[in-house]
Amino acid sequence: MSGPRRLLSRLRDLRAHGAAPLSALVQLVASELVSEVCSVYVQRPGDILELAATEGLKQDAIGRTRLRVGEGIVGLCAATGAVMNLPDAQNHPAFAYRPETGEEPFASMLSVPVRRGGRTLGVLVVQNRTPRNFTEHEVDDLETVAMLLAEMLSGSGAIDGSPEGLGATVPRLFTGTPLMGGIAVGPVVLLRSARPVVRLLADNPQAEQVRLEQAMDRMRRGLDDLFADVPNNGRTADVTASREVLEAYRLVASDAGWLRRVGDVIRGGLTAEAAVQRVASELHDRMRRINDPYLRERLADMEDLANRLLTALMGEAPRTPVPGGGILLARRLGPAELLDWHARGIAGVAVEEASPSGHAAILARALGIPALGTLRGMLDSAEQGDDALIDADEGQLILRPEAEVQRAYLRAQEARNAKYAELATWRGRAAATADGVAMKLMLNVGLSIELPQLARTGADGIGLFRTEIAMLARGSVADVAEQAAIYARVMDEAGDKPVLFRTLDLGADKLLPGTISEEENPAMGWRSLRVGLDRPALLRRQLRALLLAAGGRDLSVMFPMVATVAEFRAAKALMMAEASRVRPAPGRLRIGTMLEIPALMWQLPELLKAVDFISVGSNDLLQFLFAADRGTPSLYDRYDFLSPPVLDILEQLIVAANAASIPMSLCGEAASKPLEALVLAALGMTTLSMPAGSILPIKAMLSQADLGAFRSVLTAIRRGGGGGLRESVATWAREQGILA
Ligand code: PEP
Ligand code: MG
Repeated sequence: MSGPRRLLSRLRDLRAHGAAPLSALVQLVASELVSEVCSVYVQRPGDILELAATEGLKQDAIGRTRLRVGEGIVGLCAATGAVMNLPDAQNHPAFAYRPETGEEPFASMLSVPVRRGGRTLGVLVVQNRTPRNFTEHEVDDLETVAMLLAEMLSGSGAIDGSPEGLGATVPRLFTGTPLMGGIAVGPVVLLRSARPVVRLLADNPQAEQVRLEQAMDRMRRGLDDLFADVPNNGRTADVTASREVLEAYRLVASDAGWLRRVGDVIRGGLTAEAAVQRVASELHDRMRRINDPYLRERLADMEDLANRLLTALMGEAPRTPVPGGGILLARRLGPAELLDWHARGIAGVAVEEASPSGHAAILARALGIPALGTLRGMLDSAEQGDDALIDADEGQLILRPEAEVQRAYLRAQEARNAKYAELATWRGRAAATADGVAMKLMLNVGLSIELPQLARTGADGIGLFRTEIAMLARGSVADVAEQAAIYARVMDEAGDKPVLFRTLDLGADKLLPGTISEEENPAMGWRSLRVGLDRPALLRRQLRALLLAAGGRDLSVMFPMVATVAEFRAAKALMMAEASRVRPAPGRLRIGTMLEIPALMWQLPELLKAVDFISVGSNDLLQFLFAADRGTPSLYDRYDFLSPPVLDILEQLIVAANAASIPMSLCGEAASKPLEALVLAALGMTTLSMPAGSILPIKAMLSQADLGAFRSVLTAIRRGGGGGLRESVATWAREQGILA
């Protein structure tokens, strides 16, 4: 039996005898690798690496020798995730001398990170007196042991009942951007996580090689089928999609190095699936340090393909139900995916790359799911089944929280519920400021499951019904009858309260399954009303459905992403044509526009003559005003709604609309924030539309605000110029006791 296979089989024997102490493992590795020292450092809470077992260093250093992640060779190995092969470790600039270990005589050192699911659990080290580089085979063997050690550490928690194996239970705190407030505690559900490989060691490498080749064949055939299904002369998006998959496929399939490497690992004694997983994780680690977006996308393709290969080896994973109140952790999340997971019962969402004005965030708010975005590195630290706690009010995600912390949060959750119960007393009261200015607070919704929120919040109506959301939920645009049924239900539920329906706003990040945007800037691309005008049959079907749903009742419809008055007129003409045909004719038909594109500001006189009402979509308006992608988390805080350009535009708009007697509202996310709502009210925007969770808090806040007094303060602040508008407004609100 070859060296590494003998080592693995002896390790397996060790495990077969039940709980294998780390001390036995280090002895075995030292003797098999013919090294004088073998030590295991385990990562403890607070990013500390603690010497947990050693053969060859002083035994009383165990539990005493501690290094911070990043400190010394061991700490550097943990921090970078890179193997360190040093002939003269003590002269390395990072070397940290620890006299209690007695390591002076040992010159050469090989440190290998112990990682699982991208998370570092510890470091495995061998040392020798002779200054030399460890051979490639030795590095390989130690990496294989590290992989097994990772399974042992995270599998049983503690290897021999001692705290040696605590690496997998270390709590980690991540700070992100709140997308939807609230608290959720539950088991982690990783989106698109690879299935855990349960069988690591194999007796017969030849048989494993055959399994690998068969799986490669199955994967290739699966991909061929996939390509065959994509028409070559079909829509450009499909053709592009197929080309991309094909490209990634070729990359992996033709990368002999990748496959040879898997073969080598199999010959070392691992099963085919463990070998694929190991090589995939090596690739991942190598490419993790790459910033180039193109290469990073290729990395994502590689991960996909490695997962496909694993599926080919292990069979399809059953689509298991989400564990009760699971917390979904994802790198990116589309709105349709979020809906799908919501239906499967997730209680909270944490996304590495998501910002509050993205559509996944808007949907999370609509569904009332506590959600956080911009959580860098979170996925690398989490594993399926870990506990997670989301405190979206504070923007925090805690992985593997201590039991006491969990209890404290559950208590906070109860207190929060109690606060909402108190706010509920506002439900039946009309919205007005302390000095008697009447306000209308409306709901932003998009799904019929949200309709009960009308009664629950006592909102004055629906200020934005995003019709595309229901289509995203069902995965395609419904036919006229189905659409009419959806809209009729909304009107039935709303009763006497007004509803503003917005026509389909698909495109950018609201893509139906199977559609891929091949544009460089999809938010500014062929989307929304632009599609409706170029595919008038689609828009007319929707307008007909809305008219049928109204069945003689009043109907208000608005168009999204209008850039010119001509576009609005063209859309209105389609509506008028449909309205002339549908019977019974609607009661009062009001046709308005969203104001999301700044260009409309220079067409106001004409626009105000053409529309029945305007609703400001502040999410897109800010995106285009500041040329700052609303979906890019790092830009989220960069530009402020409470700033001169935004307030000047809104003021100009309100003055012009009032002069023309055109009703005006604002339905972007700004309406749901206390300071923004206060300023909007002061500017004269008295109809605000927002997600359900904000109606009562905003109503309660406005009831305490003396708007007359605030107006003079705001005028003075604005006249003062410069930055700090937000701080000045916040200071006033705090002094008045309006803000906590
Ligand atoms: C907006 O842009 O502000 C808006 C309300 O539309 P959406 O968020 O759906 O793009
Ligand atoms: Mg918009």
